[in-house]
Amino acid sequence: KVRVRFAPSPTGPLHIGGVRTALYNYLFAKKHGGDFVLRIEDTDSQRFVPGAEEYIIEALTWLGLKFDEGTHVGGAYAPYRQSDRKEIYRRYVDVLLDKGAAYIAFDTPEELEAKRAAVANFQYDASTRGEMRNSLTLSREEVESLIDAGSQYVVRFRIEANQEVIVNDLIRGEVKYNSSVLDDKVLFKSADNLPTYHLANIVDDHLMEITHVIRGEEWLPSAPLHVLLYKAFGWEATMPQFAHLPLLLKPEGNGKLSKRDGDRLGFPVFPLEWKDPKTGEISSGYRESGYLPEAVINFLALLGWNPGNDQEIMSMDELVQLFSLEKCSKSGAKFDYEKGKWFNHQYIQLRPNAEIANIYYPILEEKGVDVTLDYVETVVGLVKERVSFVKELWDQSFFFFVAPVSYDEKVVKKRWKEDSSAQMTELADVLKDIDDFSAYNQEEIVKAWIESKGYHLGNVMNAFRLAVVGESKGPHMFDITAAIGKDETIARIRRAVQ
Ligand code: GLU
Repeated sequence: KVRVRFAPSPTGPLHIGGVRTALYNYLFAKKHGGDFVLRIEDTDSQRFVPGAEEYIIEALTWLGLKFDEGTHVGGAYAPYRQSDRKEIYRRYVDVLLDKGAAYIAFDTPEELEAKRAAVANFQYDASTRGEMRNSLTLSREEVESLIDAGSQYVVRFRIEANQEVIVNDLIRGEVKYNSSVLDDKVLFKSADNLPTYHLANIVDDHLMEITHVIRGEEWLPSAPLHVLLYKAFGWEATMPQFAHLPLLLKPEGNGKLSKRDGDRLGFPVFPLEWKDPKTGEISSGYRESGYLPEAVINFLALLGWNPGNDQEIMSMDELVQLFSLEKCSKSGAKFDYEKGKWFNHQYIQLRPNAEIANIYYPILEEKGVDVTLDYVETVVGLVKERVSFVKELWDQSFFFFVAPVSYDEKVVKKRWKEDSSAQMTELADVLKDIDDFSAYNQEEIVKAWIESKGYHLGNVMNAFRLAVVGESKGPHMFDITAAIGKDETIARIRRAVQ
């Protein structure tokens, strides 16, 4: 059975690239009837940020990415938070020590610093470990007495020089490394009795029976180390398959997308608004900016993957059906924020008017507008093609709720002709006699009247719109008047001619 995990470190708000990683894991799992697991990788206590785990869960829940197992829902492989799994890692560190695949090192930060200053490109590896203070150079008694005396130590992975390490990547194919480029990575620190990311990650993927590791390209350089760790444990047969996703790039394509690009160009890089607990700084989120979750999902799905044809609008179910790792691209995906807005526009059109009306309603209440939800639904249906966000609806529809208090001067100058006042007074009388105030019927009658009088159609309609809306915008004129009703229409015309 396919089992994948999303394994964020709670070091801050989830970046939009992390959301895409979670999404691809979800799509892959669901496509194959597998499990989607949330594991919190919080072994780096220095970088732990309170609230980050809750944020991650809230964001992915908002987007509709439901986990089968995780810190918040439990599961057969619990616990799912690495800080709750300390004893497990200690056991596996001992396994590697017993096998001679790892060793204890006592070098203090100062000693390492001195070595780095003295030796160019110093790397703690097969070529240098013999000169350092560790269990390979010290006697067993020395090691024991140092530990007994309370000296801090780390456990390092013993990587043999000059071996070929092959990472089989489902997106990139075979990627070859020479083990000499890797250093003897720290796997465990006695100071906090915690493993490092690499050890905890491999042990957990193994114990949680993860079949596919789908993560960002920034982890590709760690993959050979992970392969060697699986080998050292003797877990090669069940080693997960890897897929490293292409980076999200700046809109200009020059380098990795960062939070600063969002600030610079004015778009969110986080799913939800985030308040930094230390600085109090607030970063905007897609949710608070008015994005529909389906739009964000659809937008992100296409950043690094496509179904192989031109189809762009896809529901979550369709994405699940169509997704495949083979169709993920190897090269980075430019983050095109305008495209994100376009998706939101599309999803506003696709959503039933009643749903959009429900989101719009509280905004109207805040403005002190008192109308029925049905009325809002009608208005939404008339103007939603003009907006990309619900918050833009007011600007396109205020005249359905409030009469103009002033008239756009430029428009008045251009469009309110000498005979406009007289014509509008006549129009008000024409409208008064219409019983069936539907848009269609009004249009028939008003146009017949204009024709019979020999008036200029455009001039009359421009003045009519100015009187009712206050500006020269809005949907079809008779849709507006049909919605606001006969009395309101006539009242607005009479006010305009005064
Ligand atoms: N904890 C790592 C991160 O924050 C997980 C990387 C991986 O998926 O192996 O991205």
